[in-house]
Amino acid sequence: MDMKAILPELTATIEAERQPLVETAKTIWNNPEVAFTEFKASKLLVELLKKYGFAVEYPYADMETAFRAEYVHGNGGATFALAAEYDALAGIGHACGHNTSGVASVAAAHAVKTYMEKHGVDGRIVVLGTPGEEGGGGKVLMLRNTDCLKDAAAVMMSHPIGNQTKIDAGCTGIRRFEVIFHGLAAHAAGSPEKGINALDAQILLFNAVGLYRQQMNREALIHGIILDGGEAANVIPDCTRSRFYIRSKQEKLIDEVYDRFAKMVEGAALMTGCTSEIKQFSIPYKGRKPNKILNSLFMEAARILDMNVSDELPSARGSSDFGDFSHAAPGAHPYFSICEPGLPFAPGHSELMKKYANSEYGYNNMLKAGAALAACALEVLSDADVRAEVRAEFEK
Ligand SMILES: [Zn+2]
Repeated sequence: MDMKAILPELTATIEAERQPLVETAKTIWNNPEVAFTEFKASKLLVELLKKYGFAVEYPYADMETAFRAEYVHGNGGATFALAAEYDALAGIGHACGHNTSGVASVAAAHAVKTYMEKHGVDGRIVVLGTPGEEGGGGKVLMLRNTDCLKDAAAVMMSHPIGNQTKIDAGCTGIRRFEVIFHGLAAHAAGSPEKGINALDAQILLFNAVGLYRQQMNREALIHGIILDGGEAANVIPDCTRSRFYIRSKQEKLIDEVYDRFAKMVEGAALMTGCTSEIKQFSIPYKGRKPNKILNSLFMEAARILDMNVSDELPSARGSSDFGDFSHAAPGAHPYFSICEPGLPFAPGHSELMKKYANSEYGYNNMLKAGAALAACALEVLSDADVRAEVRAEFEK
């Protein structure tokens, strides 16, 4: 397919719906809902998809705020899936810009469907409304509860970024742990020798982790906080809790760092006379495996659409539940700029990122990202050679 030839039509389809699409993104931004409570956001996106003629299952996959929308044209044909995110961060709101990400996928789906109908492209376009990306692992749960990507030739989404439009350079897998030390309370002045200090164990653990970082493989990350360090300065703390995240693109490195970490926990307990527990919490995410072909299709469209493109790679140190999607089907999660050229870079999860996620420039590129995703979908749906290349790259 000639992207230059199809993009004006895709853009025109989306532009005709600019008002409701942008209004939806604004309403979601103004009503931030955290993981699995995205009732308003999911309903708004579902209403749009119904209006565009999609058959919608909602709720879906045993999650009240998840949905699946599909449109099928002709008999047979391939399946292309789009993920839509719409959850906010606790406290700060839409500082990850998922209000724009979800709408970009819905805009893309509408443009693809319209094109398929008009030009007789056979196939299936699916939108998976995936709640709870921020720590909830909605996509991981969706894969556990359904076969949502079983026949997908590819799955894509696009995510806002606070500088320039960039490819998906992958992201780290993550496992999250809580460490609890149990000691013995005693008066910190009157009879400290009777106490066993559970805060000392945390302090030793944080020091051990800090020193270990010098020798740790550079492809891994570990970082933590103390959740509970005691109640009163005149009481030897008898129970303390901390949380650590371990990340890497390589699962085996997460295992390697975890093995050392578990020994440090044991060591800190030994040195203080405490007992220790490590509990894994939240859902582990796999590292993202970006598909080169899908990435380059998106970037080709983004260049034609003048989306402030950069060849630099984005930071690939964060984690996303799209990682699990990208292991279930060929996938890519490229980034679209919501930062007008000349304005300062906004890091993810910052106040500035939140501001850009509700800006005119941000909404313009959200619609362009929709057109770019639609172009990727049509390349995959209409061309068996592209599908074979995408598949071969996935199986590498
Ligand atoms: Zn995000």
